[in-house]
Amino acid sequence: MATLEIDRISKSFDSVQALKNVSFDCKNGEFLVIVGPSGAGKTTTLNCIAGVEYPEMGTVYLDGQDVTMAPPQDRDVAMVFETYALYPQFSVRDNLIFPLRSPRSRHSESDIQERVQRVSELLSIDMLLERLPRQLSQGQRQRVSLGRALVRDPKIFLFDEPISHLDAKLRNSMRRELKRMRASLSQTTVYVTHDYLEALSLGDRVVVLFQGEVLQFDQTQMVYNRPAAVEVGLLFGDPPMMFFQGKIDDQSHFVCEDESFMIDARDNAVGLAPGQEVILGLRPTDVRLAPPGSGQVQGEIYSVQNQFDRELVTLKAKEQLFDIVAPVSYAVTEGDKAGIIIPVEVCYFFDKTTHRAI
Ligand code: ATP
Repeated sequence: MATLEIDRISKSFDSVQALKNVSFDCKNGEFLVIVGPSGAGKTTTLNCIAGVEYPEMGTVYLDGQDVTMAPPQDRDVAMVFETYALYPQFSVRDNLIFPLRSPRSRHSESDIQERVQRVSELLSIDMLLERLPRQLSQGQRQRVSLGRALVRDPKIFLFDEPISHLDAKLRNSMRRELKRMRASLSQTTVYVTHDYLEALSLGDRVVVLFQGEVLQFDQTQMVYNRPAAVEVGLLFGDPPMMFFQGKIDDQSHFVCEDESFMIDARDNAVGLAPGQEVILGLRPTDVRLAPPGSGQVQGEIYSVQNQFDRELVTLKAKEQLFDIVAPVSYAVTEGDKAGIIIPVEVCYFFDKTTHRAI
């Protein structure tokens, strides 16, 4: 186990600046998740930690030691990628044993067998040890690939979207396995994903990367409850947060730019100034449909999507579209008039220019 500190690292590839002044740390035994859209710099960050890439500026500390320019073999990290590189001619058992027989690791035979047993039980692959990779399902192969990292005892685990290619059902069950693994290993881990559910269910803390910059580095629940920027709000939540451009008036009302609705923001007005141009963020799960005439927004039902356990209702007010998650029992159809109730405490305000939370 180890601590990790990333101090203001920057990295460019020709004209692309992949990382700009990225800083965060990972405590001993912590599970840290890096989240961000495609191209945000997640893999480049992991590569700089693993020693596969070297930053042009900044420092990587492992256990307090500067390892910025150290080769991978001197860092003692184990990396798991989304594509599982298993040896096709080896059984599952031999695939798991392989990392333990490298010239650098000195494990006794009984230690090797004990590790293989422990990890294969943890990942529920103990019944598959004699099979070849081609005799496994996609999810089983993914588990063996995880197992190849877990049999080792590295200072730090690095996971690069290890389950992103699995279908939704398998991803769910792998998330469960990872959570169990996380509880029983308590190893220092940096885990990259673009799936916000994975981040929320696994991470102690989360780093949100966007265009090579850290937008938020925080406790996991905080990136959902207090997104530091518009882009963070967009990443966490399903359906995603909705955004409306507008202005604060003299009475601390938010007035949408097409005047389709206004919200009394007096109780949530810290940092808001009259005349200020802002972006209002609302989650479809936080607002409620109401009978016509009540609520702050009046409009017409634009579409209703049945999602079995809930309905995703879209209401149109002038040019604005609002998504509302409603119970299935809320019977509305396209063309009905309706209102929306927006509790002021669920309003998120962001600066129009910087996109940062106010
Ligand atoms: P994804 O989720 O799609 O894997 P990511 O967040 O991991 O994306 P990176 O792979 O770190 O993003 O890439 C960050 C930026 O750096 C991207 O614009 C990418 O095109 C660029 N980049 C990464 N590696 C190289 C490389 N070897 N040569 C040139 N550009 C690169």
